[in-house]
Amino acid sequence: MKRLDAPAYASMDLYDESVAGLTDEAIKVKFLHNRPTVLEAYQRFDEESVTKTWCNLPRAAHGKPEAIVLGALSKKELVSLYDDGVVKSKGKSRKIYDQIKLAAHDECPYCGGMGEMGEDGELGTADHFLPKAYFPTYAVLPLNLVPACGVCNKGMGGSFPTDENLQPLNPYLDEDQFFLEKWTSASIRHEVPLVVDFEARPPVGWPEKDQQRVKAHFKACKLETRYRSRAWTELTPLISQRKSTLSKFSSEQFREHLLVIANEPNLPINGWKRTLYSALAASQWFCEADFT
Ligand SMILES: [Zn+2]
Repeated sequence: MKRLDAPAYASMDLYDESVAGLTDEAIKVKFLHNRPTVLEAYQRFDEESVTKTWCNLPRAAHGKPEAIVLGALSKKELVSLYDDGVVKSKGKSRKIYDQIKLAAHDECPYCGGMGEMGEDGELGTADHFLPKAYFPTYAVLPLNLVPACGVCNKGMGGSFPTDENLQPLNPYLDEDQFFLEKWTSASIRHEVPLVVDFEARPPVGWPEKDQQRVKAHFKACKLETRYRSRAWTELTPLISQRKSTLSKFSSEQFREHLLVIANEPNLPINGWKRTLYSALAASQWFCEADFT
């Protein structure tokens, strides 16, 4: 839910660099030989990106590492080009990979910065938008590598929907509206302790497909529960402020205070914080509540 610029690499850069770093001459020659077929497959990815129908790309069968999936290349060979030729490499391919992961600036684009991107000093994880278990062809395509927090990476899992309406949002390639228009919503339950319910509520004017996609994305990233638990930790200090330093504020002044936070320009429009504070400001009950 946060737009990312597409990686500044040509589609074959990571393939070429990881192949160049291979020490086994026989497999290296095999990859070089199959390069034109890989390039064609990457062009097909670009075509499906225009229509946002990545689910139409050919899938490898579950398991079956020895199966030939592209040209003369097996699933196992394509996946190990990523595992060994990129992740474990100490050469240029690993540098490209790290640059791709760094581009998120520590905010996961799938959840808008909910999850930790990695331990201190680490670069976090990269998610294969099309999972390599089913789309090994795209294991080293830069556009298929999205920096992501561990929870989203896991939530997206090893599968990819066959229904185009259920495909997750792609931070590089998807429609602007997903990143610029509000499609998350929260409602405040009138009870103490406070409970906030979050949901995906896309504008009714959106095409049905896009409405379904944001709902599927919200679910895949488990944002309902993750936003709710994040709201919990935010509300305790907020309510204690309301009882102390902000106690002199009228309900209207308190609402303005909440709106200032909701409208901080750096917050992702559909992130937990903006969604929460917008809902709190819109709640007459919350602004007027006596928490003492
Ligand atoms: Zn995330």
